[in-house]
Amino acid sequence: MTRAATYDAIVIGSGITGGWAAKELTEHGLRTLVLEAGGPIDPAKDFVEHVQPWQLHFRGKGDRRTMERNQFIQKNCYACDEWSGKFFVNDNENPYTFDADKPFHWIRGRQVGGRSIMWGRQVYRWSDLDFEANAKDGHGVDWPIRYADIAPWYSYVERFIGVSGERLGLSQLPDGEFLKPMELNCAERMVRAGVAKQFGGERVVTIGRCAILSENHRDRAACHYCGNCERGCITRSYFNSIGVTLPAAKATGRLTLRPHSVVHSLAFDPTTRRVTGVNVIDATTRETMEFNARVVFLCASALESTRILLNSKSPEFPNGLANSSGELGRNLMDHVMGAGANGTLDGMEDHESYGNRPNGTYTPRFRNVKTESPDFLRGYAFQGGGWRGGFGAEAPGFGREFKAQLRKLGPWGFQFYGFGECLPRPTNYVELDKAKVDAWGIPALHINCVWSDNEQKLLQDMSVTAAEMLEAAGAKNVKQFVDHNPPGLTIHEMGTARMGRDPKTSVLNAHNQAWDALNLFCTDGACMASSANQNPSITYMALTARAVDYAVDQMKRNSL
Ligand SMILES: Cc1cc2nc3c(=O)[nH]c(=O)nc-3n(C[C@H](O)[C@H](O)[C@H](O)COP(=O)(O)OP(=O)(O)OC[C@H]3O[C@@H](n4cnc5c(N)ncnc54)[C@H](O)[C@@H]3O)c2cc1C
Ligand code: SF4
Repeated sequence: MTRAATYDAIVIGSGITGGWAAKELTEHGLRTLVLEAGGPIDPAKDFVEHVQPWQLHFRGKGDRRTMERNQFIQKNCYACDEWSGKFFVNDNENPYTFDADKPFHWIRGRQVGGRSIMWGRQVYRWSDLDFEANAKDGHGVDWPIRYADIAPWYSYVERFIGVSGERLGLSQLPDGEFLKPMELNCAERMVRAGVAKQFGGERVVTIGRCAILSENHRDRAACHYCGNCERGCITRSYFNSIGVTLPAAKATGRLTLRPHSVVHSLAFDPTTRRVTGVNVIDATTRETMEFNARVVFLCASALESTRILLNSKSPEFPNGLANSSGELGRNLMDHVMGAGANGTLDGMEDHESYGNRPNGTYTPRFRNVKTESPDFLRGYAFQGGGWRGGFGAEAPGFGREFKAQLRKLGPWGFQFYGFGECLPRPTNYVELDKAKVDAWGIPALHINCVWSDNEQKLLQDMSVTAAEMLEAAGAKNVKQFVDHNPPGLTIHEMGTARMGRDPKTSVLNAHNQAWDALNLFCTDGACMASSANQNPSITYMALTARAVDYAVDQMKRNSL
């Protein structure tokens, strides 16, 4: 084993949270090593948002046989296609297991930038409704923080990354520091007005809040609405770590980024109660090496960070580092998604939309906000949007009438698509698989996760309330739907090293610091004590910046 140089800080992972940790640590003056399992990305070569289907070998349909062979899990994600498939992992090299009756779709990116390259960019603050939920209904453990603790950090993150959105003044979805909102189209304005009239402000249709620039921001250009962001963005108009946080870290002169560095485990010294080494396998040479630093930030994504901790065994922690509570790996959550309704809207036939706005509508949570539902706990929000129906190529018929049909646009349509909160439950958990290892010999995860009755009830209710709102807007052909997606597919997995107030029932304290190893911080989705229903990544970013601020302060006081 090679013993390599010592740094002030090590960050494991370079995705959404690793990028933020690197920026903050280096800007605070710390020489920081970022260890990233995947390879680098060259935007000039690898970003393909402007490549047209006819320029691709399979015309955008993808090589089904190769995907079936190498990306049999990843292909379930809408964004894993002939353009973006290269940003998703090879499922053979990165295996995990689950019981046949408990499917879990674990969608991953292994490269510098992680999933910030292909993410959907929807960003919503949490509120006290979310931070107080566990304490109120007794599921999970109480969050050790409240909205007031994280609000300044949301602002800090929003100001840096650029978030476009509309201010609404809702208690359950606090406003942020927004760039101007993107515009609603005519169908969306019609639905917004119908919903406002019928539901008197309780239900609201707004434009999505997203980490995409609606105007030039810092040194980045406004979005030009080409619309396929999961393929990359050469103008850096949406937030990803390779275009925004990692360049900021690099500019300090204190960043060392080491791609192809697969972290195997962490070494722990029981005398000093600190992490003393990060054990790495070089993905290309297979050489093993150890890196050291005064402080370690684990940002490898919720389940990968948990896997590293479970694999870091010592006499004191035979079941994984920082696991004196026994909660490491437990309380896995994802959002339950895929129920709603769609319909068509008469009129507005002289209107069409121009460009591809990379954003839709959002309807914040309204269940269990002011009045309690007798049927289920917590709530859900809708993403969605309006669109002009395409040319009628799939219409029945032939001959002259069919040809005429092909030249006409269809009616306007609208869809509400729900994302619901998942309760934290110890019976949803991950553990190391006893037999399976990945391409680098590291034990794979075995994932046990199923939706509870509460999540199923949220899905049912989504389809009812979505239809009500479409009817309020005068929509025709309203169709309710309930898709039964497996956990994992919403790609908001979280909770397996939760924060808490008590070391007996949680892995991390109020500052994302491991109770059992004081120089170890974990700030990715593993830290979440509940899931709320909002897309989570901006909360991870805010928690990361907050945790670095705390760690640096502790280092200055020599307490760390
Ligand atoms: C298609 C898609 C759409 C999404 N849409 C949204 C959205 O709209 N809003 C939202 O909030 N979230 C969304 N997400 C989820 C979001 O991408 C994740 O929540 C976020 O990326 C998590 O950040 P992270 O830093 O924890 O992990 P990642 O961004 O996944 O980064 C983790 C990094 O760690 C590296 N790593 C893993 N294991 C190791 C190891 N052993 N050693 C070294 N490095 C390692 C990985 O290679 C990776 O680069 C979406 C995700 C996808 C794929
Ligand atoms: S739609 Fe905007 S943010 Fe997305 S890739 Fe195009 S320019 Fe970039």
